[in-house]
Amino acid sequence: MTRIYVTRPLLPDIKDYEREIEDVFESQWLTNMGKKHNELEERIKNELKVKNCSLFNNGTIALLTALKALDLPYGSEVITTPFTFAATPHCIVLNNCKPVFCDIEPNTMTIDADKIEALITPNTSAILGVHVYGFPCDVEKIDRIAKKHNLKVIYDAAHAFSTEIYGTGIGNFGDITMFSFHATKLFNTIEGGCLTYNDENLVRKIYNLRNFGIRGENVVEEVGINGKMNEFQASMGLLNLKIYRQEQEKRAKVKAFYDEKLSTVKGIRIPKMPNNTTNSYQYYPIVIEDDYPISRNELYDKFKEKDILTRKYFYPACNDYECYKNDLSVKLADLSVVNDLKNKVLCLPYYGALTTVELNKICEVI
Ligand SMILES: *Cc1c(COP(=O)(O)O)cnc(C)c1O
Repeated sequence: MTRIYVTRPLLPDIKDYEREIEDVFESQWLTNMGKKHNELEERIKNELKVKNCSLFNNGTIALLTALKALDLPYGSEVITTPFTFAATPHCIVLNNCKPVFCDIEPNTMTIDADKIEALITPNTSAILGVHVYGFPCDVEKIDRIAKKHNLKVIYDAAHAFSTEIYGTGIGNFGDITMFSFHATKLFNTIEGGCLTYNDENLVRKIYNLRNFGIRGENVVEEVGINGKMNEFQASMGLLNLKIYRQEQEKRAKVKAFYDEKLSTVKGIRIPKMPNNTTNSYQYYPIVIEDDYPISRNELYDKFKEKDILTRKYFYPACNDYECYKNDLSVKLADLSVVNDLKNKVLCLPYYGALTTVELNKICEVI
């Protein structure tokens, strides 16, 4: 019996990678905005249909830098979702700001835009939304709220590489958007990430923050971090950029298979992508509702018995973490949808190489 994992990393042909790496060895330029890095930055800009793109060594440092670049006032509040990976709220705290958790929308599981305004105080500086599982936040409503209250908007698009809303790349919304290129993400550079943004004034700022604030041999302009993507990562990115669409097509078939088999099962809900939005095919989440015979946790265990690994994303929710659960704003918050769905969502195995035999085995368990 072979184990079925929840995902498999996208890997190019090793011979192709060797060829890319030969260039790097020849040039003896291993990092610091090298040739591969600059080429990948250009290509991703085109792929994501955005005006500006800055590559990073990982998504978390990119998000950390995005918040820093927007100069959020010390101690100010950032309204965000707790239904996300730990990196999202941690980046707020590491910027000396305070995460204020907002409830989520039951279908897309993204921050509920209708519940944001009630959380705004004179101390609120920004909204940080997450396009969770690749479902887009209500970017229009969030934009209206932000304009009305003079707030910055940052998006965590770690799950939404290539997603488009009415033909517009998802990286165009808000002030800055972060993408992660971690090994488990659809498009990967082993570790890596990027920021996309429209404001030209941010180009210099983000460049500085990514490279210790160094402007020239004798000039350090401001306080920055080391967020640079190296040539080995960028080489991986150049090759994966050529093949990730094929992987998406394969995952589209996996999705169609699951949709057909599972949509008729009582108690299983399949969240729907909003109209006119393309799918990134990053995750396949299902919701185990109350009228399903067993709980999500019991179903997870059944899968495990059969050596099929699924994921309880996002359990625990961020409001349950040791470092956040005792905050007064968490204790007082109405997070009823989050607290319900964190016990009901299960992400199924999702990658192009899944065979029909494996898919049938997975659906049989359900
Ligand atoms: C993966 C992920 C990140 C962090 O990205 P890294 O590249 O691993 O640092 C941030 N937010 C979300 C929602 C993620 O899934």
